[in-house]
Amino acid sequence: YAKSVAKNTYQLYETSMSQQNEETLKIEHHLRSAIEKNELELYYQPKFDLLTNRVTGVEALLRWHSSILGEVPVTKFIPIAEETGLIFKLDEWVLKKACEQSRKWNALNLSYPLTMAVNISPLHFRLPNFVHFVDRVLKKTCLEPSLLEIEITEGCFIDNADECIIYLTQLKNLGVSVAIDDFGKGYSSLNYLRKFPINSLKIDREFIHEVEQNADDIAIVKAIIFLSHELKLKVVAEGTETKEVIEILKGLGCNEVQGYYISEPLPSNEIERIISEINSKDEFFSNS
Ligand code: C2E
Ligand code: MG
Ligand code: MG
Ligand code: MG
Repeated sequence: YAKSVAKNTYQLYETSMSQQNEETLKIEHHLRSAIEKNELELYYQPKFDLLTNRVTGVEALLRWHSSILGEVPVTKFIPIAEETGLIFKLDEWVLKKACEQSRKWNALNLSYPLTMAVNISPLHFRLPNFVHFVDRVLKKTCLEPSLLEIEITEGCFIDNADECIIYLTQLKNLGVSVAIDDFGKGYSSLNYLRKFPINSLKIDREFIHEVEQNADDIAIVKAIIFLSHELKLKVVAEGTETKEVIEILKGLGCNEVQGYYISEPLPSNEIERIISEINSKDEFFSNS
């Protein structure tokens, strides 16, 4: 009996493995032509400054509307793109598109500058010509470098801290900002925070979403905010979904929040409207 159970279990496992491989292959296949088929789009999510009560920037988030597979979540296809090397093409498309969009928005004579944050895969960040590539895109799109922010995760720093310091310094010399995304979720030591020329930390959503009811989360968030400010870094909270959470973060001195309460990620035309709506109110957050 045990044998047959084990056998059945194994067969089940085998099926799901091959189904998974099939799906991966399918995604890879269609992803290869996604750019040419014009199936990619950038959505943008505002970052809201708690001191000025204004949207000071947006983060570009990739969306794939596949004609064959439908909406494929970015968390599903990015790992496949990383495994297959397609990520370089994707990141390039995203960076160009985001810089063009930022250039357009900032040409509108806004009363305040709007920064553009772009997520870059650790694989890409580690390429020796990455900084050169960023420089080329900035020049081509005529975007003021200080308007661009690169978001990388702690995974970038594993194994090559010395090279990272060089790349980060080069980015800084270009005038580009760097944020550490999903901070607190990784495994790296705090050592890099004092050594690396970075501009901000984004506290991972995991520590934020229950912050109003979880004393441990509050303790961690407090500590990250304190640490950031001691190190002269700006601190951004990800995944702020309620007014209560934002109030707590404001009380703790968090600089910026990003999450569904302010706005979900939206296509460019919709986000323009939302941002001008928020920024035209004097007290968007306090009054709402
Ligand atoms: P991330 O950079 O940490 O982006 C934040 C994610 O949290 C986004 O998911 C966003 O839609 C989601 N989010 C924002 N506010 C809230 C909220 O209040 N509640 C909840 N539950 N979620 C919220 P998304 O767009 O699915 O992206 C997932 C991840 O995929 C990103 O995490 C980033 O690591 C990666 N990614 C997205 N776009 C790109 C890209 O263009 N290039 C690369 N290399 N990676 C990307
Ligand atoms: Mg990000
Ligand atoms: Mg994040
Ligand atoms: Mg995240």
